[in-house]
Amino acid sequence: TVGAVAVDKAGNVAAATSTGGLSFQHKGRVGDSPIIGGGTYAHNSYCAVSCTGEGEPIMKGVLAHEVYAQVKYAGNSLQHACEEAIKVDDDKLQGDKGIIAVSPTGEVAIAFNTNQMKRAYRIQGGESVVAVWKDDTD
Ligand code: ASP
Repeated sequence: TVGAVAVDKAGNVAAATSTGGLSFQHKGRVGDSPIIGGGTYAHNSYCAVSCTGEGEPIMKGVLAHEVYAQVKYAGNSLQHACEEAIKVDDDKLQGDKGIIAVSPTGEVAIAFNTNQMKRAYRIQGGESVVAVWKDDTD
């Protein structure tokens, strides 16, 4: 996966997630990345979210939407929301997961449970860009 979230000076947020899928995946498998709410989600009033990792637990937990819900309905900070989303139904939805998010005010949040998640971000002049990618070479 390569995922990115961004906010512009006007506070508009966006999320994009691209993936080659998992190694040895079944033909026709669709992972979490293109599933809105699963691996990708954006709501202009709350956050933009992109996920990486094992798609099945990410999809079943609807993790990108969970981040938004944690902010909107539980009133959590964006960082706390990402950390809570990583842990959603952790007993049943085990797997490597990583989440990046940005808010309309430019707050950046990153949470993960694997050391395979590489990430970088840049905040400048009221704009923020966060990128994430999963690297299986470690
Ligand atoms: N999330 C992707 C998938 O399950 C894989 C990845 O993050 O590299 O298709």
